[in-house]
Amino acid sequence: MYVVHLASEFAPIAKVGGLGDVVAALSKTLIQMGVRVEVILPFYDQIDRKVLGDLHVEKETFSFKEKKWTIYRALYSDIPLLLFESPFFERGAIYGEKDDLDRFTSFTEVAMDYLLEKNKRLDILHLHDWLTAFAAPLYFEKYQQQNLQIDGIVLTVHNMKYQGVFSPEKHSMPIDKLKKKMEDPKNPKKLNLLQGGLTCANFLTTVSPTYAKEMQGKEGFGLEETVIKRRENLVGILNGIDTTYWNPETDSYLAKNYDAISDVQTAKQENRKALYQKLGMKEGKGPLFTCISRLVEQKGPELIAYGIDYILEKGGHFVLLGSTPQPGLETLFASIAKKYENHPHAHFHFTFDEPLAHLTYGAADAILIPSIFEPCGLTQMIALRYGTIPIVHQVGGLNDTVFDIDDPSIPEKEKNGYTFNAPTKEKLKEAIDRAFDHYENHPKKWSLMQQSGFAKDWSLDLAAKKYLQVYKNLSH
Ligand code: ADP
Repeated sequence: MYVVHLASEFAPIAKVGGLGDVVAALSKTLIQMGVRVEVILPFYDQIDRKVLGDLHVEKETFSFKEKKWTIYRALYSDIPLLLFESPFFERGAIYGEKDDLDRFTSFTEVAMDYLLEKNKRLDILHLHDWLTAFAAPLYFEKYQQQNLQIDGIVLTVHNMKYQGVFSPEKHSMPIDKLKKKMEDPKNPKKLNLLQGGLTCANFLTTVSPTYAKEMQGKEGFGLEETVIKRRENLVGILNGIDTTYWNPETDSYLAKNYDAISDVQTAKQENRKALYQKLGMKEGKGPLFTCISRLVEQKGPELIAYGIDYILEKGGHFVLLGSTPQPGLETLFASIAKKYENHPHAHFHFTFDEPLAHLTYGAADAILIPSIFEPCGLTQMIALRYGTIPIVHQVGGLNDTVFDIDDPSIPEKEKNGYTFNAPTKEKLKEAIDRAFDHYENHPKKWSLMQQSGFAKDWSLDLAAKKYLQVYKNLSH
């Protein structure tokens, strides 16, 4: 079985969110299962070349769409990477550029050209989100006729909200016929890359069973009818995490390592000490809450802001690790940071900081995840692996992974956190109140949730087996 991932992220060397985690962890697990995997990725200038093994040029510089491209091969953690270098990716940022559409459609086309020239045949081409979804219509309208053989194209939707919508007159399409497949159902004058992928890929997956249902309704963001039409070829496969990388027993970013049989609270205290020292915070009584998230509408910024106020008012501590805020939200979070500038038990960190995230998971008692929608979410799984109790809005993958300690219908061994069923301040407040009460007065309940988090297998093994089954069903 030969599988090629065409992706825009790969953790930890080029990561914005969960997509990058999943591409890397899934590739690693599939390779361990004996699958031949390659990952095609833009060679972003911020990728640290020193961490790549056996880096060498695969194809010399050539021109495409008035840009120079050079294709490199390298290894990262034994995963073969094909890195496509171009001025498009010398921006110091992965997304958020005005010409993202050109950047990623050109990347996709160059990748398809490369596959045609080099391989002629592969079992599976696995695409991720709108960024590479274009490859599906492109294959069936162009490359298949040129004798590139691909048994099955799989598109994984990590987030339906981002679709790659554009006006055709502003971007040239390689073939006119493509336009029909990519017509945006919300606005036929526009083209929609995700629509093209959803229509043309042989099989669709998404990242949790609950989200697979939700994207056929409100969470389809206008493409729900397209998804409904393909529902026979859609499955929700719950993501997992790389449990070797996210392991409190061996995590080198922690001041104190621990596992299920350690005194978790004492280990957390030591990590908290190190974290506070690093951030200039003062020690004191009260649970430490955190939120580690992109600060965008999806993540419930108003609820995060409310949670910070309420937790600090109740005598808790708070560390926010928030990255890439939406322009309108920068002001909101800047004002919160200003308000608590001199608060001894609060800290606000607005960059993406991998080491700090690890130490925070290791130090915190609870994590706030009040997302409005959440295709899967990885932070709750990482948190549970670190004995950090999640407080979540019951949607998407959060609904499939977090089970309320006070819900009598849930078996004791499954209970691992707090859920609330509507994204409102009142519901969040009630969940935070319960967390404070249990932390302060019912340590046994707290420990039960932690143990349940430790006991569960959060790895991608099960998911990888399900993906492999999808691949096998498609390959001849
Ligand atoms: P999404 O993919 O929607 O951003 P996920 O929960 O699936 O959300 O994945 C988020 C990933 O990004 C997690 O690994 C989390 O630890 C990480 N992350 C988010 N913000 C930061 C930050 N500021 N610093 C470090 N890691 C972060």
